[in-house]
Amino acid sequence: MARIVMKFGGTSVANLERIRASAAFVRREVEDGHSVAVVVSAMAGETNRLVALCEEAGPPAPALDARFVEHDAIVSSGEQVTSGLLALVMQQMGFRARSWQGWQIPFNTDESHGKARIRSIESNAIGDAMDRGEVAVVAGFQGVNREARITTLGRGGSDTSAVALAAVVGAERCDIYTDVDGVYTTDPRLTKQARRIGKISYEEMLEMASVGAKVLQTRSVEMAMAHGVRLRVLSSFDPPDAGASGTLICDEDEIVEQNIVTAVTPDFNEAAVTVLAVPDEPGRAAGLFTKLAEANINIDMIVQSASREPGFANISFTTKEDDLDRAVEVLGEVQAQIGYKSLQADRNVAKISVVGLGMKSHAGVASIMFQTLAEKGINIHNISTSEIKISVLIDSDAAEYAVRSLHDAYGLEKAN
Ligand code: ADP
Ligand code: ASP
Ligand code: MG
Repeated sequence: MARIVMKFGGTSVANLERIRASAAFVRREVEDGHSVAVVVSAMAGETNRLVALCEEAGPPAPALDARFVEHDAIVSSGEQVTSGLLALVMQQMGFRARSWQGWQIPFNTDESHGKARIRSIESNAIGDAMDRGEVAVVAGFQGVNREARITTLGRGGSDTSAVALAAVVGAERCDIYTDVDGVYTTDPRLTKQARRIGKISYEEMLEMASVGAKVLQTRSVEMAMAHGVRLRVLSSFDPPDAGASGTLICDEDEIVEQNIVTAVTPDFNEAAVTVLAVPDEPGRAAGLFTKLAEANINIDMIVQSASREPGFANISFTTKEDDLDRAVEVLGEVQAQIGYKSLQADRNVAKISVVGLGMKSHAGVASIMFQTLAEKGINIHNISTSEIKISVLIDSDAAEYAVRSLHDAYGLEKAN
């Protein structure tokens, strides 16, 4: 019996009706003779509700670290409820099933509360249960650290729980059920022109996830790529017997027709910081970014330019909007030491990225991007590139228009 891992996101377990609909997909796999583990998210909106409660109750910084330990105990609780409910529903359907919390498996993680990384997973007990024909319903998003404290894997982390579990139990595939029937050429909520992609390479999916396509958590794609987990994205809103194939995320060489540009991805959760008049001397940038790294703040799109004052430079970077206040706070603490003049922060920015493996070998992708934005009168603040991606930072009010214009300009609505 082949082992498989299925994962149901928040909208797929949003209430008992949706949990029963998701259970029908599990039933189909069990009846097909698979040994099944199911990873679940919290009900849609529940994690946000729990995060808001923590914010309301928590002490302000500097007690932030202590707050995050309890934060994880609280925000992980949504998954405890849905794992129990799905196990109950499966039992009522006549199947053997039980829930597993992160600490019961366990999913061992590092100490980084709120953004923990999985160190190891004990797979014997859960693998044995699966092979006995018991459906293992696993609470996603949560782990446990060396101090036996509950940790969480970052927002959207149930995807990573599912892929990690699939890797350690040697699953034949890992199916991610959500509210869209696959990965699209852009977020299908933004334009009707968005088209489902049948197969996408790990590399492109990784790039898309890391620039903000929230359909899969970045870490989950990284892990699938490292361990060769066959990952599919499917809709739990289609009927289970419709035979929908969703999107397969696989090795590049399994994809016959390769596009130059595969997708346009917006990220509305960006904020820009500009540090003005930093002394133009070795070690100043290092001082700024070391401080941000110590605070566990991820940064992106770094640009250094000459300041109007000779001997000084301006340094801009982007960070997640959620991290902006902390970034400003920790940079404030080193102002005297670094000797910069002032700081500017801007939440009204968005990052738009075009991603495609074909960029490795084709010229002209950047010029189409810049020309299209220029024709639409959209100003670019920052640019960053990788081998298979070009990102621009623009005003957030222009972001949706930019996505639609670029989707058009690269002809992404046409099936390949
Ligand atoms: P879940 O709760 O099931 O984990 P998420 O909300 O995290 O679901 O992810 C699914 C959502 O991702 C979709 O509703 C869609 O709006 C969004 N999304 C963003 N970019 C894309 C894309 N390129 N293809 C498909 N969905 C996308
Ligand atoms: N419930 C968590 C979140 O909303 C984890 C997940 O859904 O993947 O981020
Ligand atoms: Mg998700």
